[in-house]
Amino acid sequence: MMIVIMKAHATMREKSAVIAWAEDAGFKVHLSEGDEQTIIGVIGDGRPLNREQAERLPGVERVVPVLKPFKIASREFKPEKTTFMLGEHEVGGKGLIIMAGPCSVESRSQLLETAHAVKEAGAHILRGGAFKPRSSPYSFQGLGEEGLKYLAEAREQTGMPVITEVMEPAMVPLVCEYADILQIGARNMQNYALLHAVGESQHPVLLKRGMSSLIEEWLMSAEYILSHGNGRVMLCERGIRTFETYTRNTFDINAIAVAKHLSHLPVIADPSHATGKWEYVSAAAKASVAAGADGLIIEVHPHPTEALSDGAQSLKPKRFAQLVQEMKRVAQALDRDIES
Ligand code: PEP
Ligand code: MN
Repeated sequence: MMIVIMKAHATMREKSAVIAWAEDAGFKVHLSEGDEQTIIGVIGDGRPLNREQAERLPGVERVVPVLKPFKIASREFKPEKTTFMLGEHEVGGKGLIIMAGPCSVESRSQLLETAHAVKEAGAHILRGGAFKPRSSPYSFQGLGEEGLKYLAEAREQTGMPVITEVMEPAMVPLVCEYADILQIGARNMQNYALLHAVGESQHPVLLKRGMSSLIEEWLMSAEYILSHGNGRVMLCERGIRTFETYTRNTFDINAIAVAKHLSHLPVIADPSHATGKWEYVSAAAKASVAAGADGLIIEVHPHPTEALSDGAQSLKPKRFAQLVQEMKRVAQALDRDIES
């Protein structure tokens, strides 16, 4: 791939001519129109691209080859941060987005009670799994479509957009009917058929990092979604597997800074799965804010001891409310905010 950076005053006609030149040569084009600059990504299939020819086209400032394996996800392709709206709140901007709710949707009353509580505490988006990727086939697998219906009802009652996991390509249309944001779980980060399907859907996507994945592999997975013209992708660091056993995973706080450096996509932290124990969630959450995360996804359950999944890492609503206030102060110290 190479990136064609247009001059600031390049005309529409000049931009169109560059696109036509690339398409005529058999390449795919990805347009990124920033406030100051238009960048045209020319994506090949391995065949050589004629850089000098591109450089001579009118309106072209310069041509830069992208050497990294991820292209559209890279800062080289798009230097400015990606921002988009999730309901009434913007992600990727000054304000941090808070997503909260139970690990699993367990019942109508459990979900509605939690939804109202997290909204009251300051959450912007409701999370809840209807299709659960469980390590054991004998563990609770989720309520399926019934769970999606409860999520939709909770959105109606609270006004919060909902995020839920989709586990297989065939289920993408169904989940899109009910959910505002699709979650790709850690176990599915390299399920390429699924990445293609959520890319096609054009729904916003939260892409969790695989539990033993390199940051580069994570960004390559984002590239799959972006390559379908679905630019509304959020990266989610949820902890990786290490030799440590006192926590469920090891929170890779480095990954937040690295992902933000390499990519323009918003980065969301998941301190719940990253630690696996409610006692440590608050510290990891505040550290995420300090590290520059654009938002958080946190598991909250009104009765964690009775939870059908991830009770040990779930915060009670009261503690979650307190955490939101603490995160707000950390955000403000760094010239960011958590809007009410
Ligand atoms: C979840 O969000 O409940 C979940 C299953 O997360 P992960 O895919 O990160 O394990
Ligand atoms: Mn969970």
